[in-house]
Amino acid sequence: MAEFEPDESQIRAETLVVGGGIAGMTVAIETAELGKHVILAEKLPSIGGRVAAMHQYFPKLCPPTCGIEINLKRIRQNPYIRVLTLAEIGKISGSPGDYEVEITLKPRYVNDKCTACGDCEKVCEIERDNEFNYGLDKSKAIYIPHLMAYPPRYVVDPEYASDERMKKCVEACKYDAIELDMQPRTVTAKVKAVVWATGWRPYDATKIDNLGFGRFKNVITNVIMERMASVNGPTSGKIIRPSDQKEITKIGFVQCAGSRDENHLPYCSAVCCLASMKHATYIRELYPDAEVHMFYIDVRSPGRLEDFYVKMQEDEKFHFHRGKVAKIEENPANQNLVLHAENTLTGQITTTEVDLAVLATGMVPNTADEAPPLETPLDDFGFIVPDTGKGVLGTGSAVRPMEVSASIQDATGTALKALNIGTRR
Ligand SMILES: Cc1cc2nc3c(=O)[nH]c(=O)nc-3n(C[C@H](O)[C@H](O)[C@H](O)COP(=O)(O)OP(=O)(O)OC[C@H]3O[C@@H](n4cnc5c(N)ncnc54)[C@H](O)[C@@H]3O)c2cc1C
Repeated sequence: MAEFEPDESQIRAETLVVGGGIAGMTVAIETAELGKHVILAEKLPSIGGRVAAMHQYFPKLCPPTCGIEINLKRIRQNPYIRVLTLAEIGKISGSPGDYEVEITLKPRYVNDKCTACGDCEKVCEIERDNEFNYGLDKSKAIYIPHLMAYPPRYVVDPEYASDERMKKCVEACKYDAIELDMQPRTVTAKVKAVVWATGWRPYDATKIDNLGFGRFKNVITNVIMERMASVNGPTSGKIIRPSDQKEITKIGFVQCAGSRDENHLPYCSAVCCLASMKHATYIRELYPDAEVHMFYIDVRSPGRLEDFYVKMQEDEKFHFHRGKVAKIEENPANQNLVLHAENTLTGQITTTEVDLAVLATGMVPNTADEAPPLETPLDDFGFIVPDTGKGVLGTGSAVRPMEVSASIQDATGTALKALNIGTRR
């Protein structure tokens, strides 16, 4: 990876990739490994995207370290890639083959002398909600976003950069790496193609009123489950009830929480059934006696992922209920959750009491909230419409909900499409 010079104000590359998740990283790597310069611009302090927050990922159930670490190594070793973090894309002018893009780099307040020794964090008195763990725990105001964070460098929460208490951190740093007066700076990128790989966010579960998220402590979402299961997560890998910290014995997965529902997300996010089955494997490994109940409309496990579903069906502690959960109520005596559903196979109305309920919420494209530039066409749900020949090139889950392997395939193709724009010039 080429270092970014502090006094550089203009950079040139074939392709600018916006979003440093698995899709954006793939576009950058594939481009650079063809010997072409590429800029990878990520808005957060580190790259890795949503995959970095997972405990394991299907189909092989490997930890994100195995996939992301390999990609990070390829990025670190390749002089054709420049990674810009805390990067905000501004005005884009020009036309395909000849774009000029303004990029504002927000201050990290920590320079590249940082060795990640952690002395600053030890003395820091300020705590803040840790967004990486969905607010389930706190981090210090000077922090490393997560264990795999790249670049592996501390960052200061901008809200506290001017707080007097941060001076203690500056004094504790023996490398002079903390600069609380760091300012934003703008660089111009001259590129031939712009790829938008800005990914997804979880659907806001508080909007699904009948399922009680935000009202009942023991209703969590699938992304929170990923962090709980992670050994470096807020509960050190234990699946516990937020109300009383007890480990679970009976858990309910509520599929299509807000998905395939005209009032919320009318589409299927394609990965939630597999994600819940993956979560069930976490539970069954940790708590062999625990019962798992999954309520579904129909189980979607396309292609070779069907094997995973078949394996789950063989597990006698895994109960599939065909029926959408209409309502969740809390049992005030023990804060258990009562799941009301209609079994559409038997016609029976069922009530199932569990000690933790997990809502399988869907994927919302970040482009639904923040439209991409250059009048890029979006579909009804805010995903980028691919291959229109207009606007930026979308890839990965910015184009449609997709799993990691599909994102990588899509991104590889997009890298080539982007280079083709360069040659048509
Ligand atoms: C609960 C759950 C579990 C899942 N489990 C699995 C699994 O086990 N296996 C599997 O294959 N798939 C799984 N998936 C799907 C997987 O998360 C996606 O395939 C993957 O995240 C897609 O990668 P991406 O790069 O497109 O998007 P993201 O991972 O969302 O990355 C997008 C990146 O772009 C950045 N960004 C956003 N906006 C901007 C901007 N304006 N400027 C700059 N940067 C920006 C973001 O900060 C982020 O780093 C799961 C999904 C869910 C919902």
